Amino acid sequence: MTATNSDIEKAAGVLRAGGLVVFPTETVYGLGANAEDRAAVSRIFEVKGRPPSHPLIVHIAGVEHLGDWVENVPATARLLAEHFWPGPLTLVLRRGRRVPFEATGGLETVAVRVPDHPLALALLATFGGGVTAPSANRFGSVSPTTADHVRAELGDAVDFVLDGSPCQVGVESTIVDVTSDVPAVLRPGGVTREDLEAVLGYPLEVPSASRVRVPGQHPSHYAPRARVVLVDPEQVIAEAELARERGHRVGVFLPPPFADAPVKAHAVVAVPRSMAAYARGLYGFLRELDQRGCDLIIASLPPEEGLGLAIANRLRRAAGPRPSASNIPAPRP
Ligand code: AMP
Ligand code: MG
Repeated sequence: MTATNSDIEKAAGVLRAGGLVVFPTETVYGLGANAEDRAAVSRIFEVKGRPPSHPLIVHIAGVEHLGDWVENVPATARLLAEHFWPGPLTLVLRRGRRVPFEATGGLETVAVRVPDHPLALALLATFGGGVTAPSANRFGSVSPTTADHVRAELGDAVDFVLDGSPCQVGVESTIVDVTSDVPAVLRPGGVTREDLEAVLGYPLEVPSASRVRVPGQHPSHYAPRARVVLVDPEQVIAEAELARERGHRVGVFLPPPFADAPVKAHAVVAVPRSMAAYARGLYGFLRELDQRGCDLIIASLPPEEGLGLAIANRLRRAAGPRPSASNIPAPRP
């Protein structure tokens, strides 16, 4: 089911009335509130169970509105915004006065982006203001990439769900801090580091510890119910079968070179060869293995280039503190 014009009108009305609207973006589904309505923004944190110190992204309808939400727009920020918006790039800038501290987790900076999705853009244009929206899932769990994922997880806790098709990118936006002269990638995502570097004309650091607080960068985040264990690609089958012998209900992320190999496991996901397809499917795969009752997922990291950087980042978080190959937990009694 895809939303109609009247659904967009209804959703914009819900935002104006201080309600919460779930809407699709090209990255993941967002849980949106009027960015200028402190009470509505606070409700996002309640519904998600997210600590209020974790800042949200303000979604706007176009690059021409950027100046309304930030204190000033340095040349680098303008260059990146004009090149990548609408798209999966979030820019962190000095907070404009319109943005309440509820939305920034008390920070003097604000994260802004223009999503590349027709329904999201229609909602933003019809609503006319900024919409703060984190991913529409409970804090720490897997982000939703379909409206069904959202309904399964948040159900009645939200006021309106705009139904779009599955998200095309599938992982969250790339976050770049452009508050200083040296841009810093705070979170890898849908716009690749290589694409950013091509536009900037110089190499970027992708630091492991960021200069500002970056939720989503906790040791454990984006996590399914099943425990995720990362091993070398060549070890995936052997580790999965060993865990199965020990009594686990094992789900396997089978890397492309082994796609046709037989593996004794409860559920198998053949990892797509294309990184774009892998990113698009990643959260759905994790949810599927949960639904099939797996208590353990054996996976490996893709090469960390292009979208592989974001996929590897999410898999590491899903695995919590990265376990070694032999660190398979004892099965639950
Ligand atoms: P989520 O949509 O749940 O992935 O969360 C929104 C993301 O935006 C988080 O990962 C935050 O780190 C990021 N973010 C929002 N505001 C800021 C800010 N002022 N500085 C750094 N990161 C931010
Ligand atoms: Mg999230």
